[in-house]
Order: sequence, then structure tokens, then C-alpha cells
Amino acid sequence: MHSIWQHTGFHAAPHLTVIGGGLVGLFTALHYKRTFPTQRVLVLERGPFPSGASVKNAGFACFGSPSELLADLDREGEMAMLARVHERYQGLLELRAELGDATIGFEPTGGHELYRHHDPLYTRVAERFDRLNELLRPLFGRTVFHWDPQHLSASGMQGVAHLASTPLEGGLDSGKLMSALLAKAVGIGILFRPSAEVVGFEEGSQAVLIRLASGEEIHSGQVVVATNAWTQQLLPHLDVRPARGQVILTAPVPDLRIKGTFHYKEGYYYFRDLAGGILLGGGRELDIDGETTAEEGTTPLIQDALETLLREVILPGTNFRITRRWSGIMGLGPTKVPVVERVSERVIAAVRLGGMGVAIGIRVAHRAARLVEGA
Ligand SMILES: Cc1cc2nc3c(=O)[nH]c(=O)nc-3n(C[C@H](O)[C@H](O)[C@H](O)COP(=O)(O)OP(=O)(O)OC[C@H]3O[C@@H](n4cnc5c(N)ncnc54)[C@H](O)[C@@H]3O)c2cc1C
Repeated sequence: MHSIWQHTGFHAAPHLTVIGGGLVGLFTALHYKRTFPTQRVLVLERGPFPSGASVKNAGFACFGSPSELLADLDREGEMAMLARVHERYQGLLELRAELGDATIGFEPTGGHELYRHHDPLYTRVAERFDRLNELLRPLFGRTVFHWDPQHLSASGMQGVAHLASTPLEGGLDSGKLMSALLAKAVGIGILFRPSAEVVGFEEGSQAVLIRLASGEEIHSGQVVVATNAWTQQLLPHLDVRPARGQVILTAPVPDLRIKGTFHYKEGYYYFRDLAGGILLGGGRELDIDGETTAEEGTTPLIQDALETLLREVILPGTNFRITRRWSGIMGLGPTKVPVVERVSERVIAAVRLGGMGVAIGIRVAHRAARLVEGA
């Protein structure tokens, strides 16, 4: 039996329950609670703290490399490509304004895309580099990308023929970001329940009945599902595929010359300097089937490829030591457009953020919160 204090303090039925305590889940809860401060808002997170891609990513504050944007242009046309860049860049500005650059460890280090010798990607990008800049100029009010031979030679990389750079990209600290966001959410009265895995829910005429793995049941007025890569476990009809990304981190490297965030091979590889060492991720294209999994883990195939890239291209002739290996799971779909929609009268999905959730998470959450408010 719960006491009256347990009931009023913790157990009374929430108006809104958000399932998943990542960037999207916490921002959805925050936006909604700000609009309705007296309503009860609960976030259920299955991990002991946020445990998804929001705390496993590379911390790039980016909006797309030249090769990615040109591929999007070919596939979807100018309007769609520019709308996506706008969404990502505005999202980053909103994120920085909401939490503060110092708090999230944002540094405007500049971002780069590298092309190796005889790389057909370089030819494709170089041919339309000026056109891409022309298209982007109205969004940013300035030239976005430039060729950067000085930065390339200063970086000490080997076998890289060209570097395209933008000063508008940067890196941030996803650990600081997520702890500040969680503190903010809890600070305005959102109830955050870790170790609370949801195994299913049923919608009734008055409320949604949420079932936890512990056997507990919660009645909630509305539900937002923000479980990203794990969405199919709760909403099997939504097209969200898990996609694992493996990451390695080196110990500090004396006189490290790599500075900033780097994209390589159409975004399949990404690296940056972090705490004097290199964080490097990618390699999914080597085993797309094997990496289409919601299970965390690393494989020798991809770990070897990452180490080879470090040894041969990023840190040639340098002794480095890997201090950490991890993986995170993205939620992908047939397009790069996230799913933010009402899936039934009381349930909304805000999922499928692909590899850009740091940039677009806050805006996806805003749209989800507005859908709840419109109910
Ligand atoms: C390796 C890697 C590198 C990346 N690098 C970048 C980058 O540099 N820049 C960028 O913009 N984006 C990057 N991303 C993408 C970005 O991290 C994600 O798009 C973003 O974090 C998604 O946020 P989310 O809140 O939707 O999902 P998540 O952060 O995954 O949150 C979902 C949460 O739901 C919880 N959950 C799942 N199922 C249940 C359940 N049944 N019950 C309760 N809780 C549940 C999970 O534990 C998790 O905490 C990267 C992703 C990966 C994997």
C-alpha cells in the first residue's frame, strides 16, 4: 500500500509519460512541462541513467558534409536538402542557447571532410562545390565550405589529397550535455525514473496503461515514445531500423596535430580530437547486415578497420594506445526524415533521428510536445 505522500509525490497518474530518457525524451518532457507547469510529467528510462545514442555518440555539432549534402541534393532536390540543413543548424543554435556553450562543452573547432588521392568522391564534390556554396549562402549569410590545404598540411594526416572545411561546425561533450539536460528536467519538476523498462502499453478510453518489466503498471493520460533505435519493440509497425556504430578513443597523443571534427567516406567514418587524443567511429559499411542490430558490442572486423585508419591515415608514425571502445545504436529508416507523429489517440512517436540527433533532437522534441499539447 502506498502512503498518501507516496501517492501524491510519486505515484499519482501522470498527464504525460515519455518512454525513453535520451535527448528527445528529456527535451519533449521539458518543453511540455514548461507549457503546463502544474501537470505531472514522467520519464521512464530503462537504463540506470540515459543509456542510448545520446550518451554514445561522437559529439559532432554538425549539419552535413559537402558529399552528404550533394548526395541529398541528387536524391531529394534542392528544397529538401536545404530544409534539412536549416533544421540541423537551427537545432544546434537552439540547443546551445538552451543549455549554454560552456555547459555542454561546445567548441567551434571547425569541421572538415577529407578526400584521399584518386578518390572519385572528390571529383564529384569538386565539380559542384561552388554551386553548393551558392545554395547554402542564403541560409548562413556567408560562404559555408572552402578548400583548406593549410589545415590539411598542419594536420599531419597521410594519404589525404584534399580537405574541405567549414568554420560553422564544432564539437561538444555529450556527457555534459545529457547531465545538464537531465538536471534541468528534474529541476522543473519532471519525474525521471531510471531502471524502468517499458515492455508494452494498452490504450483505453481514459488513459494508456503502461507495463514495466518489473510488473508495475502506470496509467498515463498521454504517452510519447522516444525510444529511437528500440522503437519496434513497442511500435512494431513503424519503420525504424537499429544501426550500430562502433567507436574507439585513444589516450592523449603528444603534440596531436588533428584539431576539429572530420568526416570521411561519405560519413561512414568520423573522428575528432578529444582530451588530447582521437575519438574515431564508423566502419558500418563493412558489415551492414551484422551492424543492423540493437545489441551493443564491438567486432574484430570493424575495430581492426578503425585501428588501421588511425595508423595509416590519421596518426601515421605515431604510437597510440586505445583506452576505450564502445558502441551506440542509431535509429534509421528509408529516409532521413524523423518520425514525429500521433500513432493513436493518446500515443505519439518521436523517433528515427539517424546520425544527426544532436543537431535535430531539440526540434523533434518540440514538435512532439506540441502534438501532445494539441491533443
Ligand atoms: C556511435 C554514434 C555516433 C553518433 N554521432 C553523432 C554526432 O556526432 N552528432 C549527431 O548529431 N548525432 C550523432 N549520433 C546520433 C545521435 O546520437 C542520435 O540521433 C540521438 O542521440 C538520438 O536521441 P534519442 O533520444 O532519439 O535516442 P536515444 O538517445 O537512443 O534514447 C532512447 C532512450 O530510450 C531508452 N529506451 C529504449 N527502450 C526503452 C524501453 N522499452 N523502456 C524505457 N526506456 C527505453 C534507451 O535506454 C535510451 O536511453 C550518433 C549516434 C551513434 C550511435
